[in-house]
Amino acid sequence: MAEVREYVEPIRLDFKCPECETGYLRPTGIVLSTFPPMYPHKCNNHDCTFGQTFNDIYPKIVFDKRISYVINEDEIAERLAAFINYNNKQARATLGDLPEVTKEDLIGYYQQIKKKIENGEENLIELDGQIQINFQV
Ligand SMILES: [Zn+2]
Repeated sequence: MAEVREYVEPIRLDFKCPECETGYLRPTGIVLSTFPPMYPHKCNNHDCTFGQTFNDIYPKIVFDKRISYVINEDEIAERLAAFINYNNKQARATLGDLPEVTKEDLIGYYQQIKKKIENGEENLIELDGQIQINFQV
């Protein structure tokens, strides 16, 4: 079996109080010596007395499959070219003939974005609201 890598996204899970609906349940510091151990929680709203016991501590972090994904420079340029060509095609009706863009044309643009990412100015580009690309540098 080979090693498998997958990008995941951390998600914070919290438990909102079902009684007052404003507070959140927090551990009391007590651990019940059951198997598995259980953790009594109480609402952190001072006007509320609700409590519940879980076999985990809230808030907690879980990992989910990442929605956006990392692709390489070549794929980025190819997708950008396809996106620009698609928009140009729509604009031809009013603007006349526009040149086809190739992925080679976009390497310079990619280098600019890459620099922005290295400076911490940007790390995500949204092309059309559907394609989200995380740049890997
Ligand atoms: Zn409450």
